Amino acid sequence: MTGDIKCPLCGSETVTRLAKKGQNAGHAFHLCIHYPKCKGKMPSVTEIEGKNIAYYSALVQAWIQTRMERDKTLCTLSAAGIGLLVTLLTTIGVHFRWELILYAFAFVGFVITIWCTISIFMRNSKYIESIVDESEIDKPNLAKLDYCAKYAFIFAVICSIVIGFIAAWHILDPVANNKGG
Ligand SMILES: [Zn+2]
Repeated sequence: MTGDIKCPLCGSETVTRLAKKGQNAGHAFHLCIHYPKCKGKMPSVTEIEGKNIAYYSALVQAWIQTRMERDKTLCTLSAAGIGLLVTLLTTIGVHFRWELILYAFAFVGFVITIWCTISIFMRNSKYIESIVDESEIDKPNLAKLDYCAKYAFIFAVICSIVIGFIAAWHILDPVANNKGG
């Protein structure tokens, strides 16, 4: 039993399963065929055919939740990344001008990631509101923001790793520091 329900995370087919434990025990739900690699799941549509608004918003919230899990992680890690950059910058500091550029790149990457994940979150909550008011808003197309958040994050992490190595080098080899720059 797959039906038209697509995985909210990766868009693959889903299979229907019966929840065995937790507060939804006994209720059917759709599980991504790539589980456990992909954690996407949704409450069963047949159970909300009564058009009960509470059920329907529960469905949308579940959709948001699975969808948001990764974005939330990205946002948290980016905030931590900025904290780390500030710490490195204030404790070890920059010895060469190009290091400052690396710091700037990493910082901008993390800021872009946070900005993208927050706007994804805001668009999603607007979508929930529109469902509750029964106004017509299309399901938000977040592919571009998702893409942007992902690659800005990877870029910022790579810059941070390089910064980390340079910082370690500054600590281990103070002589080189005095020669350079
Ligand atoms: Zn999936």
